[in-house]
Amino acid sequence: YRLVGAGADGEDRTVEAALRPMDLDEFIGQERVREQLNLMLRAARARGATADHVLLSGAPGLGKTTLSMIIAAEMDAPLRITSGPAIEHAGDLAAVLSSLTGGEVLFLDEIHRMSRPAEEMLYMAMEDFRVDVVVGTGLGATAIPLELPPFTLVGATTRAGLLVPPLRDRFGFTAHLEFYAPAELERVIHRSARLLDVAIEPEGAAEIAGRSRGTPRIANRLLRRVRDYAQVKADGVVTREVASAALAVYEIDGRGLDRLDRTVLGALLGLFGGGPVGLSTLAVAVGEERETVEEVAEPFLVREGLLARTPRGRVATPAAWAHLGLAPLPQGGS
Ligand code: ADP
Repeated sequence: YRLVGAGADGEDRTVEAALRPMDLDEFIGQERVREQLNLMLRAARARGATADHVLLSGAPGLGKTTLSMIIAAEMDAPLRITSGPAIEHAGDLAAVLSSLTGGEVLFLDEIHRMSRPAEEMLYMAMEDFRVDVVVGTGLGATAIPLELPPFTLVGATTRAGLLVPPLRDRFGFTAHLEFYAPAELERVIHRSARLLDVAIEPEGAAEIAGRSRGTPRIANRLLRRVRDYAQVKADGVVTREVASAALAVYEIDGRGLDRLDRTVLGALLGLFGGGPVGLSTLAVAVGEERETVEEVAEPFLVREGLLARTPRGRVATPAAWAHLGLAPLPQGGS
């Protein structure tokens, strides 16, 4: 379990329902995406048409599911939620598609993880609102065409580039969600604090925002942990001191690095003089799996400009030395 992990855990799933913005006006940040979506949805509504298919890309926790709910709400349409990994066979997708009602919004999370046959069925359905259901096998197999009601597909993926072009091309609207600026996260935190009935000072919100890795889901989660601390150890009010002390308990530092991040960075600096060092060697040194270092710790360290992946191995940047309060080793050679 990782407090600064961007994926949703059990508690997130319960609490997030209460914290989700319900319309575009309530959705914080992502100004351009919001404006474009607003235009698209208003035009579709005015025409009495179903909205175009929407592809949302971006890291976990940035608001893709929330936007799909907002799209459905703004279109006054029901919403169905599923995900690529849940669709193992084309038949699973046919079952979902054929049960949609007219105008329904279908949210397909991790759309890049669908099987190839399902993917092919999906792009035909997106374009022609029709699927061919194959019954029987071998020589006796026949494709039965099935008409679908018009629907809006909202696909979500971490990177649009993971989609095969024929699928990507069938979205009328594509938006990339960026990480949030600290000021935007402060607004997210103030809004959530209001909904959760937590008293918070602006400096307290700023302290949490700075450690939230640009991600609203993490901001909301840290707020809940800080609230616990404020309740038990203080008078319930989230001040800068309370936020800072609470997050110190959870070992989240001022920049949002957790213990794993600092262990990796610390080894890179302390054991390997800042690198370059190979991923496997670094992983062994910190006693973690290669994948954990590469997929869990490194992306944020790279994003923060603390670590670089080079052909010769992992290298710490000067900012990494500064962050851990160490002086860089003198470089050898001339
Ligand atoms: P994703 O689907 O991209 O993983 P979610 O839509 O589930 O992310 O959002 C995670 C949490 O962050 C939700 O609780 C949601 O309310 C909150 N959130 C995300 N984006 C925003 C935003 N722009 N404004 C306010 N809250 C947000």
